[in-house]
Formats: sequence, structure tokens, C-alpha cells
Amino acid sequence: MYDLESFIGDLKRRNPSQDEFIQAVEEVVASVIDVVNENPQYIRNKILERISEPDRVISFKVEWEDDSGDVQVNRGYRVQFNNALGPYKGGLRFHSSVTLGSLKFLGFEQTFKNALTSLPMGGGKGGSDFSPRGKSDAEILRFCRSFMTELYKYIGPDTDVPAGDIGVGGREIGFLYGQYKRIKGENTGVLTGKGPGWGGSLIRPEATGFGTMYFADNILGNIGDSIRGKRIAVSGFGNVAWGAVMKATQLGAKVVTISGPDGYILDEDGINTPEKTAFMLQLRASNNDIVKPYAQRFKAQFVPGRKPWEVPVDMAFPCAIQNELSLEDAKTLVSNGCKYVIETSNMGVCADAAQYLIDKRITLAPGKAANAGGVAVSGLEMSQNAQHLFWTKEEVDSRLKHIMSEIHASCVREGVEDDGYINYVKGANIAGFKKVADAMCQLGY
Ligand code: GLU
Repeated sequence: MYDLESFIGDLKRRNPSQDEFIQAVEEVVASVIDVVNENPQYIRNKILERISEPDRVISFKVEWEDDSGDVQVNRGYRVQFNNALGPYKGGLRFHSSVTLGSLKFLGFEQTFKNALTSLPMGGGKGGSDFSPRGKSDAEILRFCRSFMTELYKYIGPDTDVPAGDIGVGGREIGFLYGQYKRIKGENTGVLTGKGPGWGGSLIRPEATGFGTMYFADNILGNIGDSIRGKRIAVSGFGNVAWGAVMKATQLGAKVVTISGPDGYILDEDGINTPEKTAFMLQLRASNNDIVKPYAQRFKAQFVPGRKPWEVPVDMAFPCAIQNELSLEDAKTLVSNGCKYVIETSNMGVCADAAQYLIDKRITLAPGKAANAGGVAVSGLEMSQNAQHLFWTKEEVDSRLKHIMSEIHASCVREGVEDDGYINYVKGANIAGFKKVADAMCQLGY
């Protein structure tokens, strides 16, 4: 029989100073501990111990030259977390906050997220403490080349397939894939998020944002409501926020905020025109990591140094980074009438804030379910690459919609509580865990 406290105590001893990793594991184990204790097969196979240990961690040095001719050194990683269900699959993050602990948390989360998509993908994550902020395109190119010169040894279309994440979008995937092809001379699905002209899938750039809105619409559809007419706060302004804003608008909702490290934008007219969403892409491409220019361009309000959770809305979509929505933010949202928090960044909601929302019976969708659309379309990109085919936008979008509604259904199945409240966090954790755990039992050790 497992006891949560002693299991987490051991985990902490083995993984000192990896707070985000501990947080992610604790959330999953708290959800699944009863399932494990009732299943002798999971106990006999030591699933909890094995599932919380990455298969392999690769760490390497990345040397590159900046525009002034100085040599720079960063650290690169690939965490191959679990391949019970298929090749390791997950993004690369280039951000100053990247540490081994943060990538272990992301690789762990990815394992269950990928399981929820029902596509044959294991979980992995990688990246670097390199920050694209303030870098020129030429510096980013040189960094990507150097990063791939080491990473190519460990990846492959049937072993480990990286993609984008924070700081890694279409431009960076292009630079990375270009270097991979230069070294290996191969055109394969070794990376996803490629450009549609050179092996990428349509809808992949939009997929995480589209998927989270489909998921939210499923949540509301389940209670006879819809997302149409809802007032929404989004944080972030990158690729994920961009897709979310566009799909929310298409579905008839109104997004009034986006944010960056410099503060947030409040646009009471809604971030709802092609010009406004195109400008988000320009902000990302500028490498400045700020949203303030949106306010000047579209006569919206800029609130410096604050987060958008103080704006009264029906639904909140954290789309930026882990632990971006604190307990205090959750209390403010609830007191302003917000009924739904849809975590679109990975672990965007702090643990105490998540508990508060669940206790208040506010609907909280966890990132591993709500943001799974991105990796799901990556899986569809792998399928297209393997068949040397290119699917239409309609084909990819309808598969994405179907996958999101299946994920929603599994969360409901496993997460409904005695009072009728749907605990999506618990539901997603149990549904994802069972798939990985069953495969691990069947594969032996
Ligand atoms: N980085 C994204 C995620 O967190 C996408 C990963 C992928 O497409 O492999 O799921």
C-alpha cells in the first residue's frame, strides 16, 4: 500500500531542488494513489517508482558565437522520460528559466498528455537556458545549429521526436531541422512543427490554441452551454495565445487580454481582427518579449507589471508558463465571477490555487488535457511524414476536434465526483496514468 506523504518524501530526497518536478509528480500521484492501491498489478510492477523516474537524461554543452564575435556557452538537455506508448515526443524550450528540474516536470507531464491523445507517443522534453530575448536572428540561427549538432545523436523519427515550446517556434524548428538535414542527409519526421512547405502539417502552429478552445467548448457543451458570448482573459502572447485568441473569436467568444513579462493588454473591443492577431506574431518575431506595443498600435490599455487575472471575465486561459496563476490570482478571479480556469500552459496554475479552485467547485481543466491539441497535431504530422502525405486543413482540424472531444470524455469518465462536480485534474491524471501504467505492466521491465 502506498502512502502519498512517504512516497513524496522519498521523491524529494532523490530529486533535491527540483520543486516543479516534485509538484507535477505530487499532483498526479495524489490523483491516482487509490487506483494504484486497488490494483495489485500496479503495486507488483512498482509502477509509481518507475513512472516518476525518467528513462534517460542527456545534458550537453552548446557553444556559439554572438554578433560581436564573443563565444557564448549554454546548457542543452533532452529528457527522454517514458517510451512505453511510442517514441519519446515533446517540445524543446529555449528560456532563461530552463533547468533540469523544469524539463523533468515537463517530460513527466508530457507522458500523460501524450497518452490522453491516444496516439502512439511516449513523453520527452528538452531545451536550453538560452533566451531568444534580445538576440538577433543570426544569433538564434547559430545557437540552433550548435544545439542540433549535439542533439542529433539522440533523436530519430522512431526514437525521439522533438518539437517547439516556449522560445521555439517555426523559425527555430526551421534552423534546427536544416542543421539535422545537413548532418544526416535525411528528410524524416524527426521534428514536428515544420513549415508546411517542407514536411510540416497544416494547423500545427494553431493547434494548441485551437485545441484548448475545443476542449473548453466541450466542457460547456457538457452542461448545455457553449463558449459563444463568453468574456475571456488570456495570458501570454506567443504561439499558444495566438491560436487561442483566433479560435475563441471564431467560436463567438471575446478575448479581452493578452500579456507579456512587461504587463498586460486590456482591449475592451476584443482581440478579434486579423490585424490584431497578425500583430501578435510580429511581437513574437521581434525577439523583444514585450506586449506594450500592442496598446500603442490598437489604442488599447496597457497595465504595466501586472497579470491579467484582475480583469473580470467568465473564463481564464493561462497560456504563458508554469505557475503563472497564484492563489491570490485565483481568489481575485473567483470574486470577480470567473467560473472556468482552462490551464493552457503546462502546470500554469500553482498547486494551492488549483486546490482552492477545486474546493470552490470552479471548473479547472489541467494543461495535460486542455493543451494536448498541440502534441496531437504533432502526432498527425508524424503520421503524414511516415506516409509521405500532406493532409488538408479540414482533415487535420476535424481529427484535432475529435481527439479533444475524446480527451474530454475520458476526463469526465474518470473525474466525476459524488456531488456531480467534474474534477478534470483527477480525471485527466487517472485516464493518462492507466494507459501508461498498463503498457508498462505488459512490456515488463
Ligand atoms: N511543447 C508542446 C507541449 O507542451 C508540444 C509538444 C510537441 O508537439 O511535441 O505539448
